[in-house]
Amino acid sequence: MNRFEDQAVPGVRRLRPYQPGKPIEELERELGIRNIIKLASNENPLGPGERVRDVLVAQFEELARYPDGNGFALKQRIAARHGVDMAQITLGNGSSDPLEFVVRALVQPGDEVIFSAHAFAMYPIVTRAAGGTPVVTPARDWGHDLDAMLAAVTPRTRVIFIANPNNPTGTWLDARHLRGFLEGLPGHVVAVVDEAYFEYASAPAMGLDGYPDATRWLADFPNLMVTRTFSKAFGLAGLRVGYGLSHPDLADLMNRIRPPFNVNSLALAAAAAALDDEAHLAESIAVNVAGMRQLEAGFRSLGLDYIPSAGNFISVRVADSALPVYEALLRAGIIVRPVENYDMPGYLRITVGLENENRRCLDALASILA
Ligand SMILES: *Cc1c(COP(=O)(O)O)cnc(C)c1O
Repeated sequence: MNRFEDQAVPGVRRLRPYQPGKPIEELERELGIRNIIKLASNENPLGPGERVRDVLVAQFEELARYPDGNGFALKQRIAARHGVDMAQITLGNGSSDPLEFVVRALVQPGDEVIFSAHAFAMYPIVTRAAGGTPVVTPARDWGHDLDAMLAAVTPRTRVIFIANPNNPTGTWLDARHLRGFLEGLPGHVVAVVDEAYFEYASAPAMGLDGYPDATRWLADFPNLMVTRTFSKAFGLAGLRVGYGLSHPDLADLMNRIRPPFNVNSLALAAAAAALDDEAHLAESIAVNVAGMRQLEAGFRSLGLDYIPSAGNFISVRVADSALPVYEALLRAGIIVRPVENYDMPGYLRITVGLENENRRCLDALASILA
């Protein structure tokens, strides 16, 4: 036991930290090899667009100053984009921030937070850290079982997390089911709809019939919060910026616990520029759709089962235990993500990369599994 373990609050004692994808530099150090590709953290393989580069260079002059703690300019852009009031926005150092703030604002020890099996790992972490009780509902076909989630609501439920699409399964919910769920949810429970992969899932080329934009429903449901991020399709994971949209009263609570300068000035400027760069977003989406089809076709020809995904990643079943395959891929210089911590021991989650990266990954899988 470590020195402070028995002094830690109970939720922290039981907490298992988030496991990020292995950084490229770490694998370079370990194996002494070059040419490593990372398909492990659902990052945009194109990187950020040129407009972001330009504003970051310009922003250099301002680095000695604190950022705008209210993020006025970025909030103005976000408000216009979604047709919401600026008072409904909570900016975050990544969308992880609002996902955490909502729990810290609403959940006390003994309160319950509902999420699905195989759902995003931040949900149990923020729940336990706040002393809340996680209530995990079983999945249906790898996705959220909304009936089971509704049935799990008790007077002590404060928050329900719904990732649409979900990471790491890539499963998604259509408008009719999700809206029906919100209509049935009692007002004392806040539904958090995590739309980290919205730009990918909503692209017409992805072909998801009825994939909803939950931000359109904010006026109908005061207990709805929707999160978005710049980490995925916008290519800014390293800068850490995202946001929550909610009823202004909930945003007010979250902004009380938000650290004053949680979004830095480079991130504020880059996020605004990224929102304006529709060409780069369109290209990112096109690369993803093509890469997704490439990976699916490759898995099929290898005879591997995969879970059809609405995001920029796909979970594929490679063995009863995927870890040896994960490690063999590492030795080939390819970093993917084992998901045994999501109760999916036979699966690897592979981020959609550039055409040649996907090809390298499929070729390596073919020779490892041969
Ligand atoms: C990547 C991801 C996020 C975004 O995290 P950031 O803190 O915005 O980088 C949120 N939810 C899910 C389900 C994700 O996969």
